[in-house]
Amino acid sequence: MSLALLGGTPAITWQPRIYNPIGEAEIAAANRVLHSGTLSDFIGAAGDKFVGGKEVLEFEKSIKRFFGVKHAISVNSLTSGLICAVGAIGVEPGDEVIVSPWTMCASATSILIWNAIPIFADIDPLTFNLDPTSVEACITEKTKAIVVPSIFGLPADLERLQAIARDHGLRIIEDAAQAPAVVHNGKYVGTFGDIGGFSFNYHKHIHCGEGGVCVTDNDELAERMRLIRNHAEAAVVDDGITNLANLVGYNFRLGEIEAAIATEQMKKILPLVDARFQQGTRLNRGLSGLEGLEVPHVEALASQTPPGSAHAFYMYPLRLQGLPCSRERLVAALRAEGVPGVCERYVNVHRLPMYQKKLAYGSQHYPWSDVNARKDIDYQLGICPNAERLQDGDYIALSICQYEFNETEIDDIIGAFQKVWRHLDAL
Ligand SMILES: *Cc1c(COP(=O)(O)O)cnc(C)c1O
Repeated sequence: MSLALLGGTPAITWQPRIYNPIGEAEIAAANRVLHSGTLSDFIGAAGDKFVGGKEVLEFEKSIKRFFGVKHAISVNSLTSGLICAVGAIGVEPGDEVIVSPWTMCASATSILIWNAIPIFADIDPLTFNLDPTSVEACITEKTKAIVVPSIFGLPADLERLQAIARDHGLRIIEDAAQAPAVVHNGKYVGTFGDIGGFSFNYHKHIHCGEGGVCVTDNDELAERMRLIRNHAEAAVVDDGITNLANLVGYNFRLGEIEAAIATEQMKKILPLVDARFQQGTRLNRGLSGLEGLEVPHVEALASQTPPGSAHAFYMYPLRLQGLPCSRERLVAALRAEGVPGVCERYVNVHRLPMYQKKLAYGSQHYPWSDVNARKDIDYQLGICPNAERLQDGDYIALSICQYEFNETEIDDIIGAFQKVWRHLDAL
C-alpha cells in the first residue's frame, strides 16, 4: 500500500467526532439559572455581593473541595486569572517575571499588563516544560516571580522550581490551564505554587464557554485577586482599606450561567481527564517503537491519592530526531492518511512581534523603556535554543483534546503512523 500523499489509499477513512463534554446536567443547570433571571449577581462595591452570586460561590466551593485549597477565585477566563495573579503578588514597573516561551501568550502578557518584564527561560526538550537550570540562570536582582505552565498536561519540575523560588525569595504562579486533575507527587498540579490557575475555556478538557479559576492558600493573595477581579479602586474605599490604593481593578467576573455549567463540569473532571490519559498512553504504546520519533514523557503515578492522571494530554506532543524527510513532508503524509489534528508547531512567545519590537504600550517601547527596567533585556533568536529548535523543526503534535476517540480509532491512528514510517524514504 503506497502513501496517500503519493496517490495511495488513506489509512483512515472515518471523520473524527468533535469532543463535547456538555450533557443534560449542564443544560439543566444553565436553564435553571436562566429561569431565575439572575444571570450575574456581582456588585462592584464592598458588601455581600462583592464576591458574586449563588452559582459563582457554589462553583468556587466545588473547586476548593476538589483541589483541597483554602481559596478559589473564579474569573471570566484564565487570561484574566493570570492578570489577577501577577497583580496580587505585587510587581513594580520594570520588575522581572520568568516565564516559559512554550506556552499560550497570556502566560506572558499577564506580566506586561502590570508593566513588568517577561523573561523567557528555555524549556526541557523532553517535557516541553521550563528547564530549572535555565530559570536559575535568568534570575537577576529584578526577578520577582516565575510563571510555571505544566504544558500539555505534564507536570513541570515543580519541586526544583519551588526550591529555586525559595532560595531567591520568588513567588510561583502555576499556569495549570492544560493540566486539570493532574497529580504529581501526591498533589494536584496548580496547588504547588503561591497561586495556581485553571481555564474553563471551550477548548480545554472541561469548559463553560469562557471561564477560569485561581486557587491559593494565602489569604492576602486571595483578597487582592478578588479586588482586581471586581473594580478594586472602587471597592477599597467602602471597605476602609487604605494600603491598596495602587491596585487597578477590572471586571473579570464570571457569569452565573457559566458558573453553574462549570460546577457540573467539575463533577465529571476525573473521567474526562482520565479518558485523555488513556488515549495518550495507548498512543505511547503504539508509537514508541518508531525510529526517530520520541513519544511524550509520562511520569509514573506514584499514588492514586488524590485521584487523578499523570498527564492530561491537552496535546499529544512528539519530538522528531534525525528523520530522512522534512517535517513538512511528514506532516503532509500523516494528514493525507487521514490522521486528525496534526500540528507542526506550537509557539515561541519570545518571537512574537511584541517582544521582537519591544512594543507593548504605545510607541515608546514601554514597559521596557521604564526607568526601573534593566536595559539589556534580550529576546533575540538563540535565547531559548530548545524551544526554538522544536518550533523550527523537531516538534509535531496531535491535538487530541479536540476530538472524541475510541480505542479502535486510536489504533487506526497508530496504524497510519506505522504506514508512513514504512515509507519515510519515499517522502
Ligand atoms: C488556555 C490557556 C490559557 C488561557 O486560558 P483562557 O481561559 O482561554 O483565557 C493560559 N495558559 C495556557 C497554558 C492555556 O492553555
